[in-house]
Amino acid sequence: MKCYYHNDKDAVGICKNCNKGLCIECVKEIENGIVFCSDKCANEVISISSKILKTYNDTNKIHIKNGILYLVFAILFLLFGVLIKSNLKFILYPLGAGFIIATILSLSNIRKLKE
Ligand SMILES: [Zn+2]
Ligand SMILES: [Zn+2]
Repeated sequence: MKCYYHNDKDAVGICKNCNKGLCIECVKEIENGIVFCSDKCANEVISISSKILKTYNDTNKIHIKNGILYLVFAILFLLFGVLIKSNLKFILYPLGAGFIIATILSLSNIRKLKE
């Protein structure tokens, strides 16, 4: 593959944004192995990855919020189950257990960014 800008030079890298072949003169390396043809391309990819990061964090926040909500319900149902002396506790216990499972499922959806 030849450089997009210099037809006589071999490409040493490919722009991560526009996939153009780049020679040693044209290549701009910002991180190990990640190269760009221009600052414009670098900025585009950086802004995309920060958007992905934001979506990631927002999704995690929703999972944490749901997890806490389910946990509150679980505690309430189990607490009422313990306090109430009627047969209603046989409904409240499974409900409480269900919400504990929902809490675990919701919290297990939280992804660590470094994975
Ligand atoms: Zn580019
Ligand atoms: Zn070049």
